[in-house]
Amino acid sequence: MKRILVAAMAHESNSFNPIIAGEKDFQVLRGEDVIRRRAANDALTGILNTLEAAGYTPVPTLFVSAVPNGLVDRQFYDRVRREILEIARQEQEKAPLDAVTLALHGSMTTTDLGDAEGLLLEGLREILPETPIFCSLDMHTTMTKRMFRSADGFVGFKCAPHTDRLETGIHAAKMTIRALETGVKAHTAWVKVPLLIAGEQSSTTVEPMQSLIAELRRTETLPGIWAASYLMGFPWCDNPDSACAVCVTADTQEQADREALRLAELLWDTRKKFCFQVETYPESTALDVAFDALSSGANTPIYLSDSGDNPTAGSSSDCVGFLKRLMEDPRTGTLRSPVLYGGIYDPEATLRCKGNVGKTLTLTFGAKFDTETTAPITAEGTVMAYLPGWNKFPGNKSDIALFRTHGVDVVLAEKHIGYVIPDVFRDLGREPGDADLVVCKLGYLTADQARVAKRSIIVLTKGSTNEDLATLPYCRTPRPIFPLDECENYAPALGLQTKDDTQ
Ligand SMILES: [Zn+2]
Repeated sequence: MKRILVAAMAHESNSFNPIIAGEKDFQVLRGEDVIRRRAANDALTGILNTLEAAGYTPVPTLFVSAVPNGLVDRQFYDRVRREILEIARQEQEKAPLDAVTLALHGSMTTTDLGDAEGLLLEGLREILPETPIFCSLDMHTTMTKRMFRSADGFVGFKCAPHTDRLETGIHAAKMTIRALETGVKAHTAWVKVPLLIAGEQSSTTVEPMQSLIAELRRTETLPGIWAASYLMGFPWCDNPDSACAVCVTADTQEQADREALRLAELLWDTRKKFCFQVETYPESTALDVAFDALSSGANTPIYLSDSGDNPTAGSSSDCVGFLKRLMEDPRTGTLRSPVLYGGIYDPEATLRCKGNVGKTLTLTFGAKFDTETTAPITAEGTVMAYLPGWNKFPGNKSDIALFRTHGVDVVLAEKHIGYVIPDVFRDLGREPGDADLVVCKLGYLTADQARVAKRSIIVLTKGSTNEDLATLPYCRTPRPIFPLDECENYAPALGLQTKDDTQ
């Protein structure tokens, strides 16, 4: 039976967030636990299900995943990489591995080592120089030379929000099976497109991404094409590879190059059409819009995204600028129920609430990690609820508390979690569907939150995921890059990268 080495590594590393993500932030599974773990809408699950159904034996290494955060601690990453490579070496000695299929995010960056996925793939390629290597990637991958050189093919998510993780894992496994069963060597082309696009401007449920993705799907029906992907990059990591990319895997290099250039041309021609997909306002306007809507009897809840400090895109989740504004606004106290606010990452403040449900406390919270953007809030309030080890968000368990102060029910979290599901409020005793206003530290709403929201507004707040990219202090991102610069001389042919390119 053919043996396929598998691994999953996922992290989106935000270089503007001062937190260094280390061992305590990651969920790490090893050996049989990697095989046993199956999840809905999950790339590795798609890979494992597909390989097993085709009669292959997955050989597990590690599953390593965390909520996006700051850069990843080099020592922790080194240990993870060495462990995966050591397993690959030992398994290869036992009996040659037939292929490698990985579920990677593609935007994990380590302190002073650079791109984590590139280094992992480079190590695997050294051990397995002739073995086919295929990867599923997030749509927000920042493709790098090391990644491109060290794998046979890639396929990225085609949906944002990412509802197609499972399908993308299945796709990557099918590429592996295709390589093994046809004996055809895959060829991949990569075209760099100098664009910085925030995720909030590239949802695939609306234009221009809808048409771009439709074209990817059409391209994948052409004979000889294995996969076609737009890898939109991650704008909140200032690094020398920062850009959007097109990646095409095909039977021949010529076909891959041709289709990748054509798709790059299409993306480049579309660049001026990217814009916010939902209502977007500066902080004070957003509150006026929301309160005006409420006073004229709008359907509720209205969701506001505290988008500049979005932990699911790697922000610290402890900026309190917008929260402070809400607490100070006299209209907040006139609502039928306290504003729901998710939430602030503050281990110390969270743990102060433990054992104090129903009691009044004076708490200082926020701005413990990102100390530059905002200053901590000190306020009196009541601890409404406390949950130890809340674990409905994939990843590490976190104690969470609900602290009521100045008309706002603030979720406090002991770990760096994302506010992606309404259960984070429900489990603390508040039904978001019954609230007038719900604030989440998100960009566009996740599908689960969107089901509850009657209206969604993105608020341009401050933090490590500031949506106003022009205000961020980029120093390593190659210039010129659109929309920061004009880029008049760019043509997609200039972005085509080759494997023997020594630069
Ligand atoms: Zn993504």
